[in-house]
Amino acid sequence: MSELLVNSHNGHIKASDRVPAIARPFVSEKAMRTLDLVEKFVEEECIPADAVYLRQIGETTQQRFSSHPAVIEDLKTKAKKLGLWNMFLPKNHFKEGAGFSNLEYGLMAEYLGKSRVASEATNCAAPDTGNMEVLAKYGNEQQKRKWLDPLLNGEIRSAFLMTEPQVASSDATNIELSIRRDGDHYVLNGQKWWSSGAGDPRCKIYIVLGKTDPNNKDKYKQQSVILVPHDTPGITIHRMLSVFGYDDAPHGHGHLSFNNVRVPATNMVLGEGRGFEIIQGRLGPGRIHHAMRSIGQAEKALEWFLARINDPRKKPFGEMLHKHGIMLERVARSRIEIDSARLAVLNAAIKIDESDAKGALKEIAEVKVLVPEVNLTVIDRAIQAYGGAGVAQDTPLANMYATGRTMRIVDGPDEVHLLQLGRNENKRGPAHMNRIEAQKRKGNELCKKYGISLTDPLHLNRKSGEASKL
Ligand SMILES: Cc1cc2nc3c(=O)[nH]c(=O)nc-3n(C[C@H](O)[C@H](O)[C@H](O)COP(=O)(O)OP(=O)(O)OC[C@H]3O[C@@H](n4cnc5c(N)ncnc54)[C@H](O)[C@@H]3O)c2cc1C
Repeated sequence: MSELLVNSHNGHIKASDRVPAIARPFVSEKAMRTLDLVEKFVEEECIPADAVYLRQIGETTQQRFSSHPAVIEDLKTKAKKLGLWNMFLPKNHFKEGAGFSNLEYGLMAEYLGKSRVASEATNCAAPDTGNMEVLAKYGNEQQKRKWLDPLLNGEIRSAFLMTEPQVASSDATNIELSIRRDGDHYVLNGQKWWSSGAGDPRCKIYIVLGKTDPNNKDKYKQQSVILVPHDTPGITIHRMLSVFGYDDAPHGHGHLSFNNVRVPATNMVLGEGRGFEIIQGRLGPGRIHHAMRSIGQAEKALEWFLARINDPRKKPFGEMLHKHGIMLERVARSRIEIDSARLAVLNAAIKIDESDAKGALKEIAEVKVLVPEVNLTVIDRAIQAYGGAGVAQDTPLANMYATGRTMRIVDGPDEVHLLQLGRNENKRGPAHMNRIEAQKRKGNELCKKYGISLTDPLHLNRKSGEASKL
């Protein structure tokens, strides 16, 4: 038994044995076997390789955004040999994937979330996953062969360009980048930022949302999605944005401008005016992927937390930290919150499998809000237990907190999802008001039938100035 796998006082409890009972009937034998392989690959190969990756990126900005850590290619070769490749493409929606459901991949994504390199090593990293889904679902044959095939093979990377610095982009109807038809080309002008992945020298294709028809009366028909090769003249990557000071190199988050960028008209995806439909379709499963990776991060934070409170060298006020009751309460709360959040995510994944992302809007929104909160709370508790080390580079916790915090903003901020959930929930308000009144009426009728007085037992009927009768 490898000591890298031991995860309890009883040795190694396999990932397949820890699948929640409620999800088991939906998980195939093949998926159970693959899940155990994913766990082994992540724990034994990827997490130790994280340290190599961070060093192979280099130090200067120039090095960091032109590097391609060798350890990634070695891991990709191993992952392919193990059959751990493209697990994210769900079998009931795509033929190109490894043949798993959203639920089955969700269970695997939890493990991928524990390592910096694991998602890329298995070709399951954002934003390529969502971009491959767009190409597989909406792309034509030519677009698929040119861009989807190399993405599926892990030969290139991609970026999804929606957000713009000058408008509130959480409302995608605000997007302004202009896509104007000119003969057999389209011409693009505008700015994009938070273009994740654009810093990677292997990022060859941008999937760009812009406006082809800004005056269309239907504000959901103004947008289109178009494919733009990264080296098309007129594109400038001005800078990379940092996340709480982390540059996330070599992937990065670019701030780009488009100045008369010309691409062939055949690069339009699905057709003019179909952009909104495409981005809606893209974001659903992606949110589940983020959520499951975040559950993995929370598990990892709890593991680091447990390691710290059992470190015999650290005895504040004469006792190891686990002897201080407050720490055990935090451990218990973390366990409860992670397990509850996981069930919510798996439920959303099952709902997507049963219909599609549209049929699971409520469940996806629920986990989009819930999981980052749980993840951040658990990481925060672990940071606290480490004291100064928790916020420094000697543990992965500070970086995990920074990444985890962005999940409350990316793919639509919390407020948008809360508003949608709140509005839908509130639709039931009048029905409940009427039902509660009907219940009261029926209660009164029943009281009369049984000869019970309807006078409130707390009725005092005391007049002003009267002394208490009690
Ligand atoms: C690390 C990271 C990676 C990202 N990667 C990508 C990427 O690859 N591609 C891409 O296109 N974008 C990406 N983004 C951008 C992200 O999707 C946007 O930041 C997000 O959609 C919010 O848009 P915005 O920044 O324009 O904020 P705004 O739309 O200006 O919103 C600002 C704030 O307003 C509040 N708000 C918004 N709507 C409501 C409402 N209805 N009610 C109440 N309050 C509200 C919220 O608090 C919100 O945070 C990334 C962002 C980060 C941080």
